[in-house]
Amino acid sequence: MTVRVAVNGYGTIGKRVADAVAHQSDMKLVGVAKTRPSFEAHNAVAKGYPLYLAGGAPKEPFEAAGLPIAGRVEDLLREVDIVVDASPEKVGRENGKLYRDAGVRAIFQGGEKADVAEVSFNALANYAAAKGKKTVRVVSCNTTGLSRAAAVLTSRWPIEEWEATIVRRAADPAESNRGPINGILPTFHLPSHHGPDVQTIFPQLEIATTAVVVPTTLMHVHVNHVRFATPPKDGTELLEAFRRTPRFHIFTPWEGVDGTPQVMEFARDRGLGHQDMMENVLWENGIRLSGRSAYFFQAIHQESIVVPENVDAIRAMFDLAPDAAHSIAITDRTLGIPSP
Ligand code: NAD
Repeated sequence: MTVRVAVNGYGTIGKRVADAVAHQSDMKLVGVAKTRPSFEAHNAVAKGYPLYLAGGAPKEPFEAAGLPIAGRVEDLLREVDIVVDASPEKVGRENGKLYRDAGVRAIFQGGEKADVAEVSFNALANYAAAKGKKTVRVVSCNTTGLSRAAAVLTSRWPIEEWEATIVRRAADPAESNRGPINGILPTFHLPSHHGPDVQTIFPQLEIATTAVVVPTTLMHVHVNHVRFATPPKDGTELLEAFRRTPRFHIFTPWEGVDGTPQVMEFARDRGLGHQDMMENVLWENGIRLSGRSAYFFQAIHQESIVVPENVDAIRAMFDLAPDAAHSIAITDRTLGIPSP
């Protein structure tokens, strides 16, 4: 079976998901929908992706820009089995009516509240929960990063309590209208919403999060303190659990990766699509076990970490793979993410 896929909302996440879907042999990218002409619309056309009008957008600005339009998003929805909504926060929920009217399945992103869909999704954590579903929400970048780590830890060692501080990037690289460009802004919602969001996937996990926003555009960093009921034997066992799991990249001290600048330089040198870093990034010397407590840093490339998860969510919803491991292996091979 080849699943026919639309992407509605072609920004930071949408353009990456579209490229990822185009790499899958069990999926076909039928078209992408945009609200206005832009360099991204131009690139979509250059890649051969049929371009549709989203959100009631007029076609004249596209015609004036010389960008061919294949129709409206409603026309696109008639041609597909599923739509990946990657419109801005809260717009996805409004778009939900379009999808219901068209009778197509839908994937929403983490900017929407959990009740937008039947299930919140992370491939390592709850792949099977999306099987056969009509609507799925791929959780946000931070929640995806925490959920992947939680999948590694909770499947091996019972956790008493987890506290994470999220050092958040202020804006995506292309967002010239956001800040701060100087300052560290505490998030005065205590604890932050990320903990409850992780609990949409791990309802029993005692996790509490706090957040600060810092003037950087590439990557969040999570500072984690996990207290186990029964801890790993030693730090090596803990490290190896991460190392043996797909979608984790562990840097060793000799590589000279002091922080996020070198991580993203590594990603640019490696040269996957959009020069992205789709794995959770950990450091060998950034993990420590002390008694029942584990401390570890992880860095999350916010623009790309959810991309493989969207592909796996499609595969789960249409039962295209027997289980998470098979789907993750296909997705990672096609996107160039190294397997452990
Ligand atoms: P974005 O602003 O980069 O892209 C959104 C696109 O949707 C834009 O091209 C916009 O013009 C278009 N759009 C506006 N109204 C629309 C409508 N009615 N119908 C269809 N498209 C419309 O946003 P983004 O960063 O890609 O975020 C998309 C979703 O992904 C949000 O839910 C966000 O919370 C989530 N998310 C974002 C990040 C991130 O770091 N950027 C990470 C993970 C998840």
